[in-house]
Amino acid sequence: MVVSTPVRWLARRPPPVTPIDAFDPADFTPALKTRLLILQPTPFCNIDCDYCYLPDRRSTARMSLATMRRTAERLLDDKLLAEQLTVVWHAGEPLTLPVGYFEAAIGVLDEVLGGRCRLSHSIQTNATLIDADWCALIKRHDIRIGVSVDGPVDLHDAHRRTRTGRGTHARVLRGMACLREHGIEFHAIAVVTPATFAQPDAFFDFFEAEGVPEVGCNFDEAEGLHAVSSLSGHEAAHAAFIARLLARSRAAGARTRVRELAMALHLIAEPLPMHRWRQHRWPENVQTLPFALVNVAHDGDFSTFSPELLGQPSAEFGSFAFGNVARDGYFAAARGERFARVWSAIVRGVRACEASCAHFGYCGGGAPANKLYENGDLGSTETLYCRTVLKRPFDAVLAQLERDVTPDHRQGRS
Ligand code: SF4
Repeated sequence: MVVSTPVRWLARRPPPVTPIDAFDPADFTPALKTRLLILQPTPFCNIDCDYCYLPDRRSTARMSLATMRRTAERLLDDKLLAEQLTVVWHAGEPLTLPVGYFEAAIGVLDEVLGGRCRLSHSIQTNATLIDADWCALIKRHDIRIGVSVDGPVDLHDAHRRTRTGRGTHARVLRGMACLREHGIEFHAIAVVTPATFAQPDAFFDFFEAEGVPEVGCNFDEAEGLHAVSSLSGHEAAHAAFIARLLARSRAAGARTRVRELAMALHLIAEPLPMHRWRQHRWPENVQTLPFALVNVAHDGDFSTFSPELLGQPSAEFGSFAFGNVARDGYFAAARGERFARVWSAIVRGVRACEASCAHFGYCGGGAPANKLYENGDLGSTETLYCRTVLKRPFDAVLAQLERDVTPDHRQGRS
């Protein structure tokens, strides 16, 4: 039977809306698990880098131990706990809090989660406050340490300054020396700018001289308060910089490796595991897989996907804080309409990447925050971020591997 639609009704029909993909944990195989719990114990930072995107870095608020306990309990409630969980203490400078605070906080997490999974801790610090007491805590809990340092003094002090405008390089070096004196190995994360590209050897030599086994090259991403990256328009220089770092890190006797290049090699050797959402199979990416990464602010507000989204509302989606651990479960908060809109946009972006990008199998759809802040659309594809952090290092390593296996090279004629 054919039912004709009255013309009067057709005229009033609203325009078609983009279907919203409701979030349902049952749609995922394997089951969703949290690998990274990113905690912001305080938004406060004792220094004032000019590329920082954190809006509340003067606030001395701190996460209460009750909030911390609830954060952990909520993971249990939603069966999000896997065999291994890494707690990342980040955003603001965590070491502005007392050592005793961390001792108590780690104790709370151990109490709730300790017997149920392998729990490890990681702190990203500007290292200016590291002393013997911190080193004792770091050793006691086997905490992985990342130091934020931009390389030689001129590169570092151009951006990483105190609120009164003084460079922080000397204090960072003291903190690094203290870590070494206590036998604590650490990696480094540097923010690179076009000024860094002009001196790749001085940059690499710095980390070699400091005995740093791995340096990651972040860049001043266009995010939040920091609206424009200094890398825009300097991508050829970045390519040359990556090529030089590859040559230096492969040279005989080199001890420092470069995170992006090591990661590319790892991805080539060991492709990403896959997960399934409904009929789609995608490579795992903690920034596009719901709750693989849970990000909790000092006040208990929580988010997932890219950590940078929390605390930086957008005109289209409003706040990316989907709930607060004091009153909401993680999955319960995700049943709301706002989460569904965000998830739908991220799905659109992953599918667009899958359809258009040769690197998709090694990436899984990139970083939603960078898609939003650079392209204005969570559902978009390529960004300056993915070219810089993934595509260019990946292509450089792949090209080198191909050169390594050419007959000319094997016969010593390259
Ligand atoms: S590398 Fe960029 S364009 Fe390619 S899948 Fe990742 S985010 Fe998408």
